[in-house]
Amino acid sequence: MQSTVPEEEIKRVKGLGFLRDKRYPDVFNARVITVNGKLTAAQHRALADACEKFGSGELAMTVRLTVEIQGVKYENIEPLRAFLAQYGLVTGGTGKKVRPVVSCKGTTCQYGLIDTFALSAKIHERFYEGMRGVVLPHKFKIAVGGCPNNCVKPDLNDVGIIGQRVPTVYADKCRGCKVCRVEKNCPIRIARVEGGKIVIPPGECNHCGRCMGMCPFGAVTDYVNGYKIYLGGRWGKRVAQGRAMSRVFTSEEEVLEVIERAVMLFKDEGIDGERFADTVARLGFENVERRLLSGVQA
Ligand code: SF4
Ligand code: SF4
Ligand code: SF4
Repeated sequence: MQSTVPEEEIKRVKGLGFLRDKRYPDVFNARVITVNGKLTAAQHRALADACEKFGSGELAMTVRLTVEIQGVKYENIEPLRAFLAQYGLVTGGTGKKVRPVVSCKGTTCQYGLIDTFALSAKIHERFYEGMRGVVLPHKFKIAVGGCPNNCVKPDLNDVGIIGQRVPTVYADKCRGCKVCRVEKNCPIRIARVEGGKIVIPPGECNHCGRCMGMCPFGAVTDYVNGYKIYLGGRWGKRVAQGRAMSRVFTSEEEVLEVIERAVMLFKDEGIDGERFADTVARLGFENVERRLLSGVQA
């Protein structure tokens, strides 16, 4: 349907997170940011009130953990934003910028290896809020997953973080048990006893840490906790699987620094309209990785 709102105005409010509902001449859906996918009870109530007061009375969840207030009339856009602000809620999440981060529930999940909610909130603050004014060649998506189960598909984002627990093998302590508990508890069946000794092939282990505490003889006892970072993933019209950086990072600060470098590299070297996956392919993964790592503490 033809819109009664001028084209430039539709564009401007899109930048504020209001997406036009094609079925009406002057109605929008307001995208509300949830930071890391968590809302307080007061914020939930405020969203319910807001959608009755300023919208059609319906909320819709997006696949990237934002909430859309449906059916907001053009004249209600500013009153709605002012109402939400009282509860610390903002609209947005569109444009050629860092997009709202997607987090899995790794903080509380039985398999979670990192505090995904806390890390996602930091990423939100530093890159979503902190870089609101930074226009990029295209959108830039970040996802944080607590373990290699990949529930939020970090490797299909421009930058994806995955919690890691890397085992160390002490072959001299291995007794080559008939039934190896490490082998038995490896969900992807890559740990195996060969020639009387446990073998965990480094290239095949996904660092899920599920074998921790399984060996009664101390052959697999030490684990390094950390983060794997994937670069250049994307989903949509064209799909690309991100590639993991060669290091497992052991501090949150390193991870944040690498993300910052990745965003700045995309800003400085990306060609307008291309996704980060294309920039990485054009510049070469090894080259990009080297640049993101230079200066980051090993
Ligand atoms: S990715 Fe892992 S930690 Fe996150 S929700 Fe899935 S199983 Fe849990
Ligand atoms: S890793 Fe532990 S449980 Fe497995 S065979 Fe060696 S000693 Fe036995
Ligand atoms: S860390 Fe996970 S994938 Fe690696 S050997 Fe242990 S259980 Fe298997």
